[in-house]
Amino acid sequence: MDRTPDIDTQVLVVGAGPVGLMLAGELALGGADVVVLERRTGPLTESRASTLHARTMEILDQRGLLAELGTPPAGGAGHFGGTPLDLTTASPYSGQWKVPQVRTEELLEGWATRLGARVVKGHLLTELRTTERAVEATAEAEPGAGGAAATLRVRAAYVVGCDGETSTVRRLAGFAFPGRDATRELLRADVAGVDVPDRRFERHPKGLAISARGPGGVTRVMVHEYGATVGHEPGPVSFARVAAAWQRVTGDDISAGTPLWLNSFGDALRQVSQYRRGRVLLAGDAAHHQMPVGGQALNLGLQDAANLGWKLAAEVRGTAGPGLLDSYHAERHPAGRRVLDNIAAQALLLLGGAGTEQLRLLFGELLRKPRVRAHLAGTIAGVDVRYAAEPDGHRLVGARLPHLRLRTAAGPCSTFAVLRPGRGVLLDLGGRPSLSRATAPWTDGRVDVVAATPERDRPAPEFTCALLRPDGHVAWADGTVPELKAALRRWFGPPSRHRAGASGLRSAAAG
Ligand SMILES: Cc1cc2nc3c(=O)[nH]c(=O)nc-3n(C[C@H](O)[C@H](O)[C@H](O)COP(=O)(O)OP(=O)(O)OC[C@H]3O[C@@H](n4cnc5c(N)ncnc54)[C@H](O)[C@@H]3O)c2cc1C
Repeated sequence: MDRTPDIDTQVLVVGAGPVGLMLAGELALGGADVVVLERRTGPLTESRASTLHARTMEILDQRGLLAELGTPPAGGAGHFGGTPLDLTTASPYSGQWKVPQVRTEELLEGWATRLGARVVKGHLLTELRTTERAVEATAEAEPGAGGAAATLRVRAAYVVGCDGETSTVRRLAGFAFPGRDATRELLRADVAGVDVPDRRFERHPKGLAISARGPGGVTRVMVHEYGATVGHEPGPVSFARVAAAWQRVTGDDISAGTPLWLNSFGDALRQVSQYRRGRVLLAGDAAHHQMPVGGQALNLGLQDAANLGWKLAAEVRGTAGPGLLDSYHAERHPAGRRVLDNIAAQALLLLGGAGTEQLRLLFGELLRKPRVRAHLAGTIAGVDVRYAAEPDGHRLVGARLPHLRLRTAAGPCSTFAVLRPGRGVLLDLGGRPSLSRATAPWTDGRVDVVAATPERDRPAPEFTCALLRPDGHVAWADGTVPELKAALRRWFGPPSRHRAGASGLRSAAAG
């Protein structure tokens, strides 16, 4: 950089969409200095994702954000590629929850900035240069950016591209993005002034039709004509095109309506082959591109951020052990692949014509089997993610710790609430002093020891003592002291040589 940077920070996050804002909050909670660069000058104006799944709600609970969100309206029954699917899972937030993306972003931006993250709006990242010790970024002011500098130079130890499906960071840093382009698409319009019946994945001889009347009398229609390929009608989606397709498929005329929002979704499927290239990382849609079937794309991205934030914060604070940051790719690439495969299978069932009828019938039959239903519901909800663990370890290791109501010296609590400070937690339900003693060299702000008793819920807890990572996944459970110390080193770095201050030892969970 040939001039002093305007901003010097530990982590630069590019993109203040939901994933960038979640990541910024996680980084700030972990003690990192973070700046978010966003091209937009104001809130989202597009109609985008509106579904939060159970695991995302749990993550928001882990950070104490649900009280501010309130209880969102339940999103009704789920589906798998258009076939009804009961999304009940072993989560207090079973099902799906309706939260417009603009509200999710507002919630996360407020949280991240309260924690100290700085969001710089109205600047478009245009250049990125990586040196041995830093990443240097250049951003140009967008029209309407107010009195901000026309060109902003930022230096950071790490850059994370959360800049969406057309990611500039991905392109500038040379990430490989293998996969396939869209061949089929679903046209969508939010329309006022039409009166059409609600249609839930209605299959007609010529195509698929979905319609739902929302608040304020606006109807969302989605339509796909079997066999129509992407680009068979060039140019941006026009209302005339949506209305004509709708009429061909359903026979109804909606052309007199007023379109408020138009777009289309293709069934393209791509995922970067590496989530990290040195000092540059990707998360959310920048790392994976998928059809937004069943609202999984946004949830997948938020879960990337929850995995990466505490690891990158530890890295820039100098407390990370070797390999911690690389575990982000090792864990999230396969988790993303699995969701992408699931989405691709759903897209096939949803948009396939008469040729896929038998497959759909077979799927409908399978979905009535309780174990198949539970398996697919767990995947869509995101509660079944299990990061690689030793095959002979406790069965909870790698999985997210399920919800339990607890009682601590400070009062009632839960397995999610103990994670609110964003640190690791040794959750001791059995009162084994040798385990808290072994953990003491990490209780310098990296790990809390929480002694608790479970409420007499059913099912009973499957462990007596567990080490939790800040993202709620189990790092160790009910093993030996040497195994506990190995897990502490792996996830929280080397032990401190000084005895921990009292601040790190909690016999009661913070609320
Ligand atoms: C038009 C559209 C409609 C969608 N509708 C649905 C839906 O109905 N249901 C559903 O489940 N999902 C939907 N999705 C998908 C869902 O919105 C995404 O999965 C989700 O937004 C991903 O979040 P993200 O933070 O990774 O990326 P984004 O939300 O795309 O955020 C990226 C941010 O980066 C900023 N940015 C981009 N480039 C730069 C740059 N060079 N410099 C600075 N800032 C930059 C952008 O302005 C944006 O704010 C839709 C997506 C799109 C694009």
